[in-house]
Amino acid sequence: MSKELQTLAQGENFKAVNAGPWAEIAQYVTGPFQGKVFLKEALGTTGSEISFGSMPEGAAVPFFHTHKENEEVYIVLQGQGQMQIDGEVFDIKEGSVVRVSPKGVRNIKAGKGGLVFMCMQAKAGSLREWTGDDGLPAEATEKWSK
Ligand code: ZN
Repeated sequence: MSKELQTLAQGENFKAVNAGPWAEIAQYVTGPFQGKVFLKEALGTTGSEISFGSMPEGAAVPFFHTHKENEEVYIVLQGQGQMQIDGEVFDIKEGSVVRVSPKGVRNIKAGKGGLVFMCMQAKAGSLREWTGDDGLPAEATEKWSK
């Protein structure tokens, strides 16, 4: 029985879900993967896929993989471990951020105490504007409830 994403709010131009707390990511099940949840369907994203993964101490993804078109960015949210990319192994910990090109042969392994991470996939080379260049000022009336 998998934990379910909680819908927080949605509208014509947005959808908000809660996937956490991070300590409960281990309770999600996606296909054969315990501790994994993907957000594309839940959020309706069109330019990226985001997933959260939780692995107990010593566990690794059961296969190395590459991608056809998408680069991935792994962000470590809790814990520590290692990544192996193209045969190179390096340590990662809370706050580590790793970009992998589509052809990079990758895997991730949890270290002492386990590992919780986010992985974002987006088509390599698709970003046309970034940081503030794609943002536009908009008119709005503040309606905060707290
Ligand atoms: Zn991947």
